[in-house]
Amino acid sequence: MMNYIQPVADLHTHTLYSMHAYSTIGENAAAAARQGLLAIAMTDHAPAIPEPSHRWHFTHMNLLPPHIAGVRVFRGIEANVLDFDGRLDIDDGMIRNLDIVIASMHGGGIMKEGTKEEITAAWMAVANDARVDVIGHPGTPMFTFDYETVVRECARQGKIIEINENSFNAREGSLENCTRIAYYCKKYGVRVMLSSDAHFHEYVGKFDRSILMLKELAFPIDLVINANRQNLETYLKEKNLAL
Ligand SMILES: [Zn+2]
Ligand SMILES: [Zn+2]
Repeated sequence: MMNYIQPVADLHTHTLYSMHAYSTIGENAAAAARQGLLAIAMTDHAPAIPEPSHRWHFTHMNLLPPHIAGVRVFRGIEANVLDFDGRLDIDDGMIRNLDIVIASMHGGGIMKEGTKEEITAAWMAVANDARVDVIGHPGTPMFTFDYETVVRECARQGKIIEINENSFNAREGSLENCTRIAYYCKKYGVRVMLSSDAHFHEYVGKFDRSILMLKELAFPIDLVINANRQNLETYLKEKNLAL
């Protein structure tokens, strides 16, 4: 396992800004440094999550230095898919200064539960939304969809699909769904990103179950954007970003 993938970045992490997360950006960055990561992204929840979210958190991220504890910290957001039309709870001003936009579906009344066709339609719209970089934790059992159709669209649109370590603990049934999604990513050449979705700093940079799952699929390392420094830098360059 050591030689298959040793990811160099964790581009989906939460801080105290998300009220149900429990670490600061400083703690997350220091934990990433201890894990030997080159970069993390701070991707707190966009305002539809029922918390005292405020858009200024996202519009003022330029107050952060680019490196914390020696780790490159990218500025991001985890947007919420709101309906079957794939609408998101972000606006252009909110994301203007951000480096990465993840779009995810969350329960708790934020995203309506729907039929497989309705959820597929929502993801198809998100896959065609130029503001979105990454499809977040698509293996969520509450929101199953036609994986092959959406993955194929992600191939056309150049979207990244997330393999979310937290889902394997927090959302029962995710492993089976994520395995099927990863299978289609391999089939259609869609790039994936391993992320912890850490809500506490000790989980930053931990991807063991995700790596095992990809290894069992003999998933091509070239399709994992954070598998190594070269892959990461290739992806960052596309986004006009650097370590
Ligand atoms: Zn999420
Ligand atoms: Zn998250």
